Amino acid sequence: MSVDVSRLRQTIRQAEEARQGHVQAILQERGPLRPGSIVKVRRKCGKPTCRCATGEGHPATYLSCKHEGTTRMVYVPAAAQRKVTQEAQRYRRVRRHRACLAKLAQQTLGLVDRLQEALVSTEPMMPPPSTDSSHSRARLRQGR
Ligand SMILES: [Zn+2]
Repeated sequence: MSVDVSRLRQTIRQAEEARQGHVQAILQERGPLRPGSIVKVRRKCGKPTCRCATGEGHPATYLSCKHEGTTRMVYVPAAAQRKVTQEAQRYRRVRRHRACLAKLAQQTLGLVDRLQEALVSTEPMMPPPSTDSSHSRARLRQGR
C-alpha cells in the first residue's frame, strides 16, 4: 500500500484540532461587528487658502462596505474612528476564521476520501466451493 494511512489519520486529526481552534475563536467573539474595511484617504477641503490646496489633503477615514453588489464609502467621523476601526477588525477576524473553517472542511473531506480509498479491500473474495453448482453458474454468467 503506497498511501501512509497513519500519516493520513494524523493529518485529519491536525485539521480537526485546527478547526476547533477557529470555532472557539468565533464562539468567544462578542461583537459588535462592523462589516466593511477601514480606508484612510487624504482629501482637499476646497478652500483655496487652506494649506491642503497646495500640499497634502486632510486625513479622512471611510468605511468601505459592499451594499447590494456595489461598494459604498461611508465617512467615519473622527470621534467614532477608534470604535468603528475595532468593530471592522472584529468583523474581518470572524470572516477569516470562517474562511479557515470552510477550507479545513474541504481539506478534511479530501483526506477522508483518501483514507477511505486506502482502506478499501483489494483482496479478491473467497471463491465459492466448486461443489456448489448454483454458485458455479453465477460465476460463469459473470464471465469468470
Ligand atoms: Zn483644506
